[in-house]
Amino acid sequence: MARERIAIAIDGPGSAGKGTVAKGVARRLGYQYVDTGAMYRAVALVADRRGVSLDDEAALTALASGLSFRFGWDGDVLRVFVDEEDVTSAIRTEDAGQGASRVSAHPGVRGALLDLQRQLAAAGGVVMDGRDIGTVVLPDARVKVFLDADVSERARRRHDELVRRGEVVAFHDVLSDLEQRDARDRDRAAAPLRPADDAVIIDSTDMTIRQVVDRVLALVSVVDTVPDTH
Ligand code: C5P
Repeated sequence: MARERIAIAIDGPGSAGKGTVAKGVARRLGYQYVDTGAMYRAVALVADRRGVSLDDEAALTALASGLSFRFGWDGDVLRVFVDEEDVTSAIRTEDAGQGASRVSAHPGVRGALLDLQRQLAAAGGVVMDGRDIGTVVLPDARVKVFLDADVSERARRRHDELVRRGEVVAFHDVLSDLEQRDARDRDRAAAPLRPADDAVIIDSTDMTIRQVVDRVLALVSVVDTVPDTH
């Protein structure tokens, strides 16, 4: 019998490894991966290019509603296309991350992206990562993970990644940016960052990516053996 193709939600703070784990799980299961953070980053990027203020909720909501998103694998790299433009690298800067955190605090912007995110998951067989996937976007997801790690370990991972990309940044700046972004994501009124009541919390501070992927796959195989009660 074919296995059920479920939805898997992976939430957590910045640089906890969500994206890498979500991609690993998606590859192993032959599922789609949807990076919702990339969508908020893209809104911030396009707003910046068009001179739209990150405080102007109405203009940002209109902008977000008008964008089209597509994700596609290019070898091991997941490419993100916005209105068919490849923005994969452009959205990975610190500015785009901070901008994303600001635009994502507006309920109008979140509402504009919500339908789209649900459509991307509608066919099942999806791993979606973000901040509110288990709580708001896919509350019926069969597997929900909240992936966390100590903030200093997350800053170290983020710093390593930036250095690998050739960016010159001080560790303490990376750490304070992460802390600022986490605080904004946790304290906002609209869909704040928090584990869903039925999420499994995984602390990846002392775990390898491989161990976390295996842990999530183990959760998926448990779900495979019990009927859906939703
Ligand atoms: O995960 P990533 O760092 O790419 O997300 C960038 C920002 O987008 C986060 O700091 C958060 O403010 C916002 N975000 C969100 N809800 C999501 C995904 C991302 O608010 N589902």
